[in-house]
Amino acid sequence: MSKSAAHPSRRPRRRAVGSEHETELLLDWYERHQRPLPWRRTKDPYAIWVSEVMLQQTQVATVIDYYQRWLERFPTVSALAQATEDDVLHAWQGLGYYSRARRLLEGARYLIREHGSELPKTPAAWLDVPGVGRYTAGAVTSIAFGAKAPVVDGNVMRVLCRLYALPGNPQKAPLAGELWRLAEALLVTGAPGDVNQALMELGATVCQPKAPKCSACPWRSRCRAHATGQAERYPELPERPKPTPVVMACALVSRGERVLLTQQAASAPRWASMWLFPAVEVSAERDAPRALTRALGERYGVPGRVLTKLGVFKHAVTRYRITLHAYAVAVDGAERPRAGARWWAGAELGELALPAVHRRIANQWLAAGTGSP
Ligand code: SF4
Repeated sequence: MSKSAAHPSRRPRRRAVGSEHETELLLDWYERHQRPLPWRRTKDPYAIWVSEVMLQQTQVATVIDYYQRWLERFPTVSALAQATEDDVLHAWQGLGYYSRARRLLEGARYLIREHGSELPKTPAAWLDVPGVGRYTAGAVTSIAFGAKAPVVDGNVMRVLCRLYALPGNPQKAPLAGELWRLAEALLVTGAPGDVNQALMELGATVCQPKAPKCSACPWRSRCRAHATGQAERYPELPERPKPTPVVMACALVSRGERVLLTQQAASAPRWASMWLFPAVEVSAERDAPRALTRALGERYGVPGRVLTKLGVFKHAVTRYRITLHAYAVAVDGAERPRAGARWWAGAELGELALPAVHRRIANQWLAAGTGSP
């Protein structure tokens, strides 16, 4: 029997929610237990927007340093709007999902063009910003300006589905709409920004996907899923597709202190505009040396021969699990590579935006002393 088959009806019923007492319990818990995160010390809508975009798909512990460095480098929306895409990608490197950085840049330029340096205060105005959806618009305006705008992210979704024992897929209608209504109903008292953050904090630190800490939850006596001992059956998310394995090979082509890198096209689906070691996808590791030398010659005009294997690097990009085999490649001539490839001195690599896995290979090469003049 499927998880949901035991439920007589798939349509969530409208329910009486959002009592002041419910919200007060949550706010009281938040006041005592919230983590001291740097973006909680500001009401600057720009800083809050940056933190919200960084926190999408990235753990809090990873985001903290990036957030602080970002604000040192681009302290205002106007500073960001004036940055180049290379600067922005460089500041973002290692955080992954690089389209987020480009969306921030595009959004900053839009905000300066349409609003000057005074950022809008309403969710409706933020929804016009490129890359901003209902969640981000609600988070920024509720926290920075006290707008009565709800937020529903993965944490909120999980808490509400459990609190009210809601069956069905929370990412689809009708339950998705119901969750926004329930989140809004909780904004009945207190500062909307605090209620929203409290709800997200509860999901992140107490009502976790596995083994929720119900004994520490301010809503344990009201939670329907907890009452039936079935917290983990909610939310009823569809199974994630299995990760797709991908085998790739890349070439570390060096001449003295210089190394060959290629720039991804701005329209590339992965790592757009970033610098990589020349790489090819292969069906198996044994095909890698031949595929690499062919790609170097045909694509970049850099005929070469594989010397040694440098290592195997595993990393994940969205649903792809990539195994990257790196090789040292020797070349003859080829001073003028083509197709977006160029030689860079080891000392210049720190200024370029490289995906994390290629940065590791570059660091390994630099640490071996081969990138020194
Ligand atoms: Fe989540 Fe447990 Fe709290 Fe219910 S009682 S909201 S399941 S932590």
